[in-house]
Amino acid sequence: MDNIKKFRELVKKQKAYQYALTMVSWDSNTEAPRGAFERRAEMMGVISSELFKLSTGEEYQKVVNELFNIIDTLEDSLQREIKKAKKNLDKIVKVPEDEFVAYRKLVDLSQKIWEDAKEESNYNLFKGNLKSIIEFQKKFIEYYDIDDLPYNILLDEYEEGMTMDEYDLFFNTLRKDLVPFVQEVLKAKKTYKSDFTGDSFDVKKQEEFCQYITDEFAFDRSRGLMKTSVHPFTWNTHPGDVRFTTRYLKNMVLSSIFAAIHELGHATYEQQVDEKWNDTLLSGGTSMGIHESQSRFYENMIGRSRAFWETHLDKFKQVFPTELKGVSVEDAYRAANKVEASMIRVEADELTYPLHIMVRYELERLIFSSDIDIDDLPKLWNEKMEEYLNLTPQNDEEGILQDVHWSGGMFGYFPTYALGTAYSAQIYYTMKKELNIDEVIKNRDIQLINEWLKNKIHQFGSSKTPREIMLEVTKEEFNPKYYVRYLKEKYTDIYLTK
Ligand SMILES: [Zn+2]
Repeated sequence: MDNIKKFRELVKKQKAYQYALTMVSWDSNTEAPRGAFERRAEMMGVISSELFKLSTGEEYQKVVNELFNIIDTLEDSLQREIKKAKKNLDKIVKVPEDEFVAYRKLVDLSQKIWEDAKEESNYNLFKGNLKSIIEFQKKFIEYYDIDDLPYNILLDEYEEGMTMDEYDLFFNTLRKDLVPFVQEVLKAKKTYKSDFTGDSFDVKKQEEFCQYITDEFAFDRSRGLMKTSVHPFTWNTHPGDVRFTTRYLKNMVLSSIFAAIHELGHATYEQQVDEKWNDTLLSGGTSMGIHESQSRFYENMIGRSRAFWETHLDKFKQVFPTELKGVSVEDAYRAANKVEASMIRVEADELTYPLHIMVRYELERLIFSSDIDIDDLPKLWNEKMEEYLNLTPQNDEEGILQDVHWSGGMFGYFPTYALGTAYSAQIYYTMKKELNIDEVIKNRDIQLINEWLKNKIHQFGSSKTPREIMLEVTKEEFNPKYYVRYLKEKYTDIYLTK
């Protein structure tokens, strides 16, 4: 059993380096002064390369391979760890080091080039880099020598076990059932109070309200904290230290609130993972999709519910007495669920959001399944936007250049956003059978929802696959019909009745 001991020791060492990197990253994204930049990059570089050596070194490879050879004799969770470790290692060791280094350099450089191209709204400035990144990825996939389609291999990196077949079924359902419904909603004329878009929402007061909400969601402040940053994110080293950020926009108070609740969802998931996984490869949320299902559950199913606004509008008005004078629960609920076709994914509402993802999924699928000319991507992008949302981007900035992901080589990531949101609907209908969610929200008992999610999902960390989670929680495989049903029920009520 020496190998098991050795494996534990090596994993713990990796965790320690990871811990240091995570804490420094948190600091650099929140409070570090500009002057810290260069020295920090140098020091982080040293730690990162040590971590890389540890996690790909001969000693680690040997232990993982030897344990893999006797995998059937190991207990379940160790089996899963070894399989994960082996899968990662097999990929890394097959890519020649010089090519991997060249790729890392290309990706680092591409961030800046993408930023410039976006600012100048000129796809031509970026397309060369994009092409090289894609070529590298295709080459790496060949090195992996896995018996599967190229895009499936990428999809699996972000959502274990997901394939094009399943995503096709998901997005085909959306195209068939959701697109016509969205078109109908977009045509319905509803007038709204514009009280929430004024630019008089003091950020200090917004923070006060978000702090109140954080407590209402029973976030454990002794094991976490909230700060501000340009882009909201959640950072964690272990369940005892989970930090998230939000940002406050003076002219978009609701957006500030929902960004905070969204991250709070990610953070609650991480806080409720069982500590017993701390020193294993099974700590933390199990996948991008399941993680997003939790953030979207808190954001949409709780934060954008009528019950939530019935319960918390009074406090909101207390914080903004003049700004919100005369605003009713119904006004707030409708403003929180306003539907509008828009160019920019990150600003999209709950109903049109998945269609933005569909555009990206279909393009990525083409890129990795055909010989598509990279020059044609903006045209294809625009055609799809027109088809799904009746909008044609006027330039590359509001079209194909809007997201950072591709410049970082993150192909296969986007679909998890829509998938996670769809998971959240399936989880919602399951929870509804056991909990009266509206009553729970009205009784200010969100702790009960936290506990439900902890018992069924959070505590397991990554010890279960996303598929196992969905199957065990909802008693069936992922099924997109729940998502369509949820959106139709909600938005028919808001937009298409009376
Ligand atoms: Zn998220």
